[in-house]
Amino acid sequence: MRIDIISIFPEYFSPLDVSLIGKARARGILDIRLHQLRDWTHDVHRTVDDTPYGGGPGMVMKPEPWGEAIDAVIADVPEGVQNAQSAQHGQSAEDAQHAQDAEGAEGAARRESAGEDGAAGRAAAPRLIVPTPSGRLFTQEMAVELAAEPWLLFACGRYEGIDARVMLEYGRRLRLDEVSIGDYVLAGGEVAALVMIEAIGRLLPGVLGNARSVADDSFAPGAMRNLLEGPVYTKPPVWRGHAVPEILLSGHHGKIAAWRHEQAVLRTARNRPDLAARNSASTS
Ligand code: SAM
Repeated sequence: MRIDIISIFPEYFSPLDVSLIGKARARGILDIRLHQLRDWTHDVHRTVDDTPYGGGPGMVMKPEPWGEAIDAVIADVPEGVQNAQSAQHGQSAEDAQHAQDAEGAEGAARRESAGEDGAAGRAAAPRLIVPTPSGRLFTQEMAVELAAEPWLLFACGRYEGIDARVMLEYGRRLRLDEVSIGDYVLAGGEVAALVMIEAIGRLLPGVLGNARSVADDSFAPGAMRNLLEGPVYTKPPVWRGHAVPEILLSGHHGKIAAWRHEQAVLRTARNRPDLAARNSASTS
């Protein structure tokens, strides 16, 4: 999977060099490319914000640098996707590149949104994710959906957000999702993008040592959909007088699975009554 990130603070993304995601990058499972939004400004101060129309406090991110930055990123179609397109159209990779250069990103995106390129055409443009507190709530279900995409582009806003015309423009040309990571307000989209990239990245084949652990996670599609995972234990069997529940030492897989499910239901009822209510609604 390729992920492009546009931000005025690319250095915010250094955590993507470590742990699971860092290893996935080193192994070529994840290709993450950082872009400085200010590289697409043309004034001496590299200005990306201006005062809001209609008045009010704070600053709004200007549309021009965002437009140039997103156009540049989407024009840089990944190698594998180009080849898939050329094969489909019976062209050489070089011919496909020339045709694409002549047409420009805008034409390609227009064809893409008109559905002219089929699956390869859709894959040839990234899915654009704009973190914002006013977006749809990010969930495990959305992480699973996004993990199936070949190419994501995160546009990280700051200040009072990005001029709405940017979303209007790219909502027409790309598949665009405005996504919130929760009901609180951060200072910028960088941390939200990090959260989503980690949730998506760990779902990619080969990233986790044991793929089964994903299916047992809280919120995992399937049996855990509206459930929180219950408590987990490791050795020693007794620590500071606290013993591991007997059932987990029994070796009886059926009874252990039933106990874990019971614990998940109890924990969900205690910590997330909203999820528990969804469970009882779906079973009634
Ligand atoms: N004035 C905006 C509002 O009330 O909706 C908040 C802007 S916030 C200070 C600046 C940026 O932080 C946003 O453009 C967005 O990129 C990011 N952000 C803040 N909270 C977020 C959240 N809960 N989820 C995703 N992104 C968030």
